[in-house]
Amino acid sequence: MTLTDLENVDTIDDIAAIIRQCRDCSLGESRTNAVPGAGSDQASVLFVGEAPGSKEDQEGVPFVGNAGNLLNKMLGHAGISRETVFITNTIKCRPPNNRDPEQIEINTCKKYLRSQIAKLNPKVVVTLGRFALEYFFPGERISRVHGVPRQLGGRTYLPLYHPAAALHNPGLRDTLLEDFVTIAKLISPPNVTAMPDGSEVVTSKTAPKQLDLF
Ligand code: URA
Repeated sequence: MTLTDLENVDTIDDIAAIIRQCRDCSLGESRTNAVPGAGSDQASVLFVGEAPGSKEDQEGVPFVGNAGNLLNKMLGHAGISRETVFITNTIKCRPPNNRDPEQIEINTCKKYLRSQIAKLNPKVVVTLGRFALEYFFPGERISRVHGVPRQLGGRTYLPLYHPAAALHNPGLRDTLLEDFVTIAKLISPPNVTAMPDGSEVVTSKTAPKQLDLF
């Protein structure tokens, strides 16, 4: 697949079709299904995880396993519907036995995430975990930068812990919950109330839902 093919695509579905045919690295041979991504082509928030796991590989859909269940709950807590966002991964095929992605796989797959971002033009990119963070901000440590929005190329990026990290380390769950509420604040325009004296009072519309998460 050439970069020119990707430059000429019309829609996010066209990019997905190209990804499903990809054999540019060895993961193309070992996967069951490529996992291009899922969600709204109008999304203002793009989530970028690490790599598909076993369930994602079976179904061809990102975040449908345990980490996905937690992601869904976190989205619910923040009042964000999964259908309104777009979810993808740094690499689009499952590494065998869920090993870490290798640099050559990340580099080979870069063109797809780049093209998805160009097509979606999201207002906010949420990175989930250290591989997605490293992709955009090499050398940064997730423990130092999570939950703090930053600007890059005219877009807002919000680095978050990966939901799987919170499954393994329950101490991270509250942190992740708080950081998800930050996403809602970034995309929710503030309420501006005009006061009788002509001044304006700005309040946030975002009120996180109370959910029994765990
Ligand atoms: N973890 C990821 O990073 N991505 C998925 O799609 C599923 C689990």
